[in-house]
Amino acid sequence: MSSVESSYKKLISVVIPVYNEIEVIDTCFNRLTEVMDGLDEFDYELVFIDDGSKDDTCKRLVEIQQTDEHVRVIKLSRNFGHQIAVTAGIDEAGGDAVIIIDADMQDPPEVIPEMIQKWSEGYDVVYGVRKRRVGESRLKLFTASAFYRILRSFTNIEIPVDVGDFRLMSSRAVSQLRKLREKDRFIRGLVSWIGFRQIGLPYERDERLAGETKYPYRKMIKFALDGITSFSNVPLKLASWLGYLTSLLAFLYLVSVFVQKLMGYTIEGWATIMVALLLLGGVQLICIGIIGEYIGRIFNETKSRPMYIIDTVHGFDSSLSKEQKPE
Ligand code: UDP
Ligand code: MG
Repeated sequence: MSSVESSYKKLISVVIPVYNEIEVIDTCFNRLTEVMDGLDEFDYELVFIDDGSKDDTCKRLVEIQQTDEHVRVIKLSRNFGHQIAVTAGIDEAGGDAVIIIDADMQDPPEVIPEMIQKWSEGYDVVYGVRKRRVGESRLKLFTASAFYRILRSFTNIEIPVDVGDFRLMSSRAVSQLRKLREKDRFIRGLVSWIGFRQIGLPYERDERLAGETKYPYRKMIKFALDGITSFSNVPLKLASWLGYLTSLLAFLYLVSVFVQKLMGYTIEGWATIMVALLLLGGVQLICIGIIGEYIGRIFNETKSRPMYIIDTVHGFDSSLSKEQKPE
């Protein structure tokens, strides 16, 4: 393809966060290339973000980059987490549309042409809706499903259910997303928050190609809390309602204690005191914990550290600022 010809074509950026994915990286590259090469009327770039992999993923990515001019590699200085890796990719992607996809091919690249079709029809965001999820544990399916439903009932922003980060975004949606610099990120919610014309595209989520999930339960819980705390203050309200309720019960009990005292019963009631003490202690700690989740995030924001640090980049011409480039 000549450069004159390509300059008339719209550019599609595919952003792929990768963390210790040496087993899948070649298949991922090949499948994406096959799909993207098939789209004659578009030019494309594959923006891989190496999120501080400890295996040879980055080395392999750089090798691939040297053989294919569509490939760009951003190596972050350490592991910053999936949502931040995706953000780094979105920040540097230069396309008229940007697609986010996982490296483990759970999101089939073959759906991309349909996403592009919807974008051509004028949609700004085309998000994949997981119709069926193959090969994931029942516990994961149950917790994921419960989480999306709780989140939906807690927030008044329309965050669609069973939707991951696999999506296409128009350049105007991307430029709005880039302005949202919050640190504890829940990207799928941020994209819903932006608005514009959005549409879901059902697809079947496959099994991970190889290797293990990079989202252990610890990270999933942090991610779920990020989703809830950044889009809802219902937990804070629950904490105060819990406070009102226990105060009311305590007050009623106080009246009963007072009456008993007047009637001459005094010493008895050790068990009752213990129960009340433990109950109140528990409720108080839960409420402090809820407040703590929010305060921790406020603390993160106030430090105003950069969200991520780039170590090296490969395959970009002059689009990245000099200070981010290696010496
Ligand atoms: N990932 C990442 N940084 C992390 C964890 C994951 O860049 O700290 C990438 C990972 O390589 C994959 C995507 O994010 O491309 C989704 O991760 P994974 O498939 O392990 O999550 P799951 O599908 O099990 O929820
Ligand atoms: Mg996966």
